[in-house]
Amino acid sequence: MRDGDHGSGDRNKCLSAAVRAMTVVDPQGGIFEVAPHLDGDRFAATRAGLGGVGIVVRASLAVEPTYDVAQRVYLDLPFATFATNYEEILASAYSVSLFTDYQAARFTQVWRKQRVSPGEQLEWSDPWFGVVGATHPVHPVPGMSPDATTRQGAVVGPWHERLPHFRLDHTPSSGEEIQSEYLVAREHAAPVLEALSTIAPLIAPVLLISEVRSVAADDVWLSPAYRRDTVAFHFTWRRDPPAVLDALAAIERQIRPFDARPHWGKVHRFSPEQLFKAYPRLPSSRIKGGD
Ligand SMILES: Cc1cc2nc3c(=O)[nH]c(=O)nc-3n(C[C@H](O)[C@H](O)[C@H](O)COP(=O)(O)OP(=O)(O)OC[C@H]3O[C@@H](n4cnc5c(N)ncnc54)[C@H](O)[C@@H]3O)c2cc1C
Repeated sequence: MRDGDHGSGDRNKCLSAAVRAMTVVDPQGGIFEVAPHLDGDRFAATRAGLGGVGIVVRASLAVEPTYDVAQRVYLDLPFATFATNYEEILASAYSVSLFTDYQAARFTQVWRKQRVSPGEQLEWSDPWFGVVGATHPVHPVPGMSPDATTRQGAVVGPWHERLPHFRLDHTPSSGEEIQSEYLVAREHAAPVLEALSTIAPLIAPVLLISEVRSVAADDVWLSPAYRRDTVAFHFTWRRDPPAVLDALAAIERQIRPFDARPHWGKVHRFSPEQLFKAYPRLPSSRIKGGD
């Protein structure tokens, strides 16, 4: 929440966008409240503050009544199908996640999560964009047990048991990994995927799995989705820091023309100058803390 973390969904904003007010302790030990009606700029700066404005000791969040979700996983969607239909594919459910290992030009899995109203019978096209639904549970990371994943197969359940990919009482992802993520404007989804495909041989050997998701634009100054509907390219790497840094250098060369923003909580190689360019509100967010 402090660094603009996000889930997935064309209309779902980053987690910090759900903050309605905060109590913060500043470096001098003073306590101040942050809320839109008190100071709009300070609120926008603090919602994803990277710890730079103080320590958040209390946060009020927007909440909504509980709801149900069902998820289905589809297998082996070609990159070419995504490139020509990405808007429809990303908008095809409340939350959509596409996974690839860059071993071939296809997404190995597409996780589609739909909200379900009481008594509603969801229609799940199969085939969908020419690919079929998985007939048994799958884990996004090749070789990992699907026992760690939340219930698939369109079985309806509470939101908190479907929107995360992994069960709360199991290890998320691989459990032994390095993560990176770059976020670009949604209209760049296809060209960025193409640019990354051309260096697939550099990415694949170091990669456990890569995930593509969408995030809705927000007004949080340091959010990676600040003022632009976004698509996020996430990389879960093997725990091999030198090899990961080499892969990141290659990735950052490829995505440079697309005005990418790196995720604050994950590994990247942006210089301070590049970060200031990627996050234009960064300088003003530093001076909007406690008095
Ligand atoms: C398995 C796994 C899955 C993940 N999945 C996702 C995902 O789906 N989407 C996504 O966006 N990210 C995801 N992440 C990344 C995750 O969001 C970041 O790792 C996380 O936000 C970093 O927070 P932290 O508390 O671990 O780190 P920290 O380094 O403690 O904190 C991160 C930032 O917050 C600041 N901070 C910490 N505490 C406070 C405080 N009390 N007040 C003010 N500032 C504070 C720090 O200064 C720092 O800038 C995932 C990470 C893992 C390991």
